[in-house]
Amino acid sequence: MKLDILAFGVHPDDVELSCAGTLMIEKLNGKRVGIIDLTQGELGTRGTADTRKQEAIDSLKILGLDLRENLSMADGFFKNDEEHQLKIITAIRKHQPEVVLCNAPEDRHPDHGRSANLIEDAAFLAGLRRIETKLDGKVQEIWKPKYVFNYIQDRYLNPDFVVDITPVFEKKTEAIKAFKTQFFNPDLKEPQTYLSTPDFLDSVIYRSKMMGKMIGVKYAEGFISKKMIGIKTFDSLIKETT
Ligand SMILES: [Zn+2]
Repeated sequence: MKLDILAFGVHPDDVELSCAGTLMIEKLNGKRVGIIDLTQGELGTRGTADTRKQEAIDSLKILGLDLRENLSMADGFFKNDEEHQLKIITAIRKHQPEVVLCNAPEDRHPDHGRSANLIEDAAFLAGLRRIETKLDGKVQEIWKPKYVFNYIQDRYLNPDFVVDITPVFEKKTEAIKAFKTQFFNPDLKEPQTYLSTPDFLDSVIYRSKMMGKMIGVKYAEGFISKKMIGIKTFDSLIKETT
């Protein structure tokens, strides 16, 4: 399936916490939007690979996006090497996205920065014709996404641009809560983690509010771009007093 936007996350729920609002806005805007999780999050303290798989499916229904795949890489131990780059290159050539979203360039969880480097390197390599990949026995066409943006996760990083997600913010929190084993859930008898306290979910809301305040809207998500961003007209700018 040709996608306009493809968001990679190393753990199922990374995308929900960081850029799901933007993905829903783009879907409402008529774009084809998908998610690829690199791992099943099998090293997580709470839940199992199976519960997280079901949670990812439940969340996708709430988000209403076009597809979600899982590359079954090893949580915690995947590397930015040829083997893993080829898996990402194959996925990028399969879906031919114009825009790729990936993990934060550095973060509390060391998997996040490593995943960002892996996706950024593979997005470049996917455009090189001397790297041959096959899917279902057929040689794939090369594909170079036009932009790769990092979303912002746990640690605050200064965004290069910010997207208004106010119309879909409630759905974003619903999708996060679909990960019932991961976040605050008083009914669950599993060890508490950094993510499972009520304060953590509050912090996701505060972050969205803070990003929103910077552009004069209620809720927003921020992104980082290594490449200069070009716009066609000033019409797409949010014109609020800030
Ligand atoms: Zn993560």
